[in-house]
Amino acid sequence: MDIKSLVRDISDFPKPGILFRDITTLLRDPHGLRYAVDTMTEKCAPLQPDCIVGMESRGFLFGVPLAYQLGIGFIPVRKPGKLPAPCHEIEYELEYGSDRLSMHQDAIQPGARVLIVDDLIATGGTAVATVQLLELAQAELVGFCFLIELQNLKGRQRLPNVPILTLIEY
Ligand code: 5GP
Repeated sequence: MDIKSLVRDISDFPKPGILFRDITTLLRDPHGLRYAVDTMTEKCAPLQPDCIVGMESRGFLFGVPLAYQLGIGFIPVRKPGKLPAPCHEIEYELEYGSDRLSMHQDAIQPGARVLIVDDLIATGGTAVATVQLLELAQAELVGFCFLIELQNLKGRQRLPNVPILTLIEY
């Protein structure tokens, strides 16, 4: 199935000069959604993760159904101030300035095998920050799954040496 054709390109969003890959058109397509989640499931099952960590907010859209399919749990990574219990927090650099991500301190058992899931990898900054949160939690990273990879931004090169599974490449 050609799920790439279900991703819509939006020019100049969220800023002039940026070509945004809009996944809402894939999500609303019943066959596209099923194909995407089923394909992620097939690719990720061999990694035998104990749980999935997904990043706010589009990582939730794929991380939760993938966890459900694999029969494992899901742990959200969020912007600061959103999670109610004590959190690990990490600051990471953006093109202009910095941002922070947080995760509940008690969400992951030390040594648990964790798969990181997001809709898209661009520069890799969000994924690298999530890896640092997993290090604080003493989790074992077993791989990454992204619906979309923007290959020209070389985010993959910043990630640790574990499997990086993707479904659509630009
Ligand atoms: P990175 O940290 O790898 O530079 O950017 C990836 C993060 O930004 C992901 O959480 C992703 O949701 C978001 N993102 C950046 N560009 C796009 C885009 O063109 N489309 C979508 N859907 N998300 C994007």
